[in-house]
Amino acid sequence: MTKGTLLQNASYLAGDGLTPTRGDILIKDGKIAGLGEGLNPEAGLDLVDASHYLVTPGFVNTHSHAAMSLLRGYGGDQNLKTWLTEYIWPVEAKLTDEDVYWGTLVSLVEMLAAGVTVIADMYDHMDAVAQACLDAGIRANLSRGMIGFNDDDRHSLKENDALYDRWHNAEGGRIKVWYGPHATNTCSPDYLAEVAAHAQNRATGIHIHVSETKEEFDELQEKYGQTPVALAQAAGLFKGPCLIAHGVWLTEEDKAILAANDVGLAHNPASNMKLASGACPVADLRQAGVKVGIGTDGASSNNAQSVLRDAQLAALMQKLTRLDPTLVSAQEALTMATIEGAQALHWDEEIGSIAVGKAADLVCFDTDKPWWIPNHEPAATLIYAAHSDDVDRVYAAGQLVYHQGDWPRLDTERIFYEGCSRAKKLLQG
Ligand SMILES: [Zn+2]
Repeated sequence: MTKGTLLQNASYLAGDGLTPTRGDILIKDGKIAGLGEGLNPEAGLDLVDASHYLVTPGFVNTHSHAAMSLLRGYGGDQNLKTWLTEYIWPVEAKLTDEDVYWGTLVSLVEMLAAGVTVIADMYDHMDAVAQACLDAGIRANLSRGMIGFNDDDRHSLKENDALYDRWHNAEGGRIKVWYGPHATNTCSPDYLAEVAAHAQNRATGIHIHVSETKEEFDELQEKYGQTPVALAQAAGLFKGPCLIAHGVWLTEEDKAILAANDVGLAHNPASNMKLASGACPVADLRQAGVKVGIGTDGASSNNAQSVLRDAQLAALMQKLTRLDPTLVSAQEALTMATIEGAQALHWDEEIGSIAVGKAADLVCFDTDKPWWIPNHEPAATLIYAAHSDDVDRVYAAGQLVYHQGDWPRLDTERIFYEGCSRAKKLLQG
């Protein structure tokens, strides 16, 4: 057991402002214990020559269904409703705890190598997801995805309660449990109100898909005379911490409601483009004060699990759809991928930026690559030119979880074998 790690002579992006800085980073007890030039390389520390690194905060994946790696490439190129009802849901009904455990690890291996140190994951068999996150060393906000229209659906709410009791604040707070009503169009308003009460009784948050497609937006207005956002508010979802995924179709009033209630938003540009759901008005929302994070969504609607790639897409998508190149700058995209994602998860006191006292969730990019030269604006290089493959080391809660094609905590040969064989079995019948 070492006393900690000292990254020496690094370039790093400091604080919530991601300010380019040069110096050492001292990691102790899972936290950033010191920053500055020439820190004391005391005996017992792991010394790392970081002179060719750019160190960034760990990327925050604000919306994932990690176990869907098992369905990567299955039923692609369909609209959301057809894809879910005819392809995804019938196969998901057959998943076991073991399938979800191994499927989640496949995604976590990919995410850690891409510098993702935090996920907000909504799915079924969540004990298996929690165990996979524990084993991989990643930080996680977990919720049981719940579809609810009648009394028969109460079992999943009980499962979310049990998940909370078992896992909330586990591993020194590395795992949090929120509630996961699936979506405003897959739960009745009464069910949403019941879930909100469960979350608020436990002083925890809610993660839900809201207004992903035009179809949902129109359907709810016809059925209830309310937009998905207004319906979520009326059901009481915004009384405590709440993270909505997508928020593609929003009225001006919806945007004001989200801002006034400090509702975070997980923007999933690859998924929204692939399913042709539309373009979330990210620039307007951020201007109104909404905290917007980046999400990968599941591996079957993206199909890669890199927040860096989605942050690039977020910038490009907003510029193109609004015909305005000044919207979502590289710096803003990087902010969304880090501290703003942490804010959307109400976790920013602990994670999301490089500052003394914060968790040591850090990504070391190897800058000895042609697309890093020159590097006038690190944010622009990261967002527009860098690849996830440039990631050389990743620390989560101070532990080295990825280094040059190796995941010290994980048996990747077994994970890839289980992932392939279980996916094959699921799709065969
Ligand atoms: Zn989703």
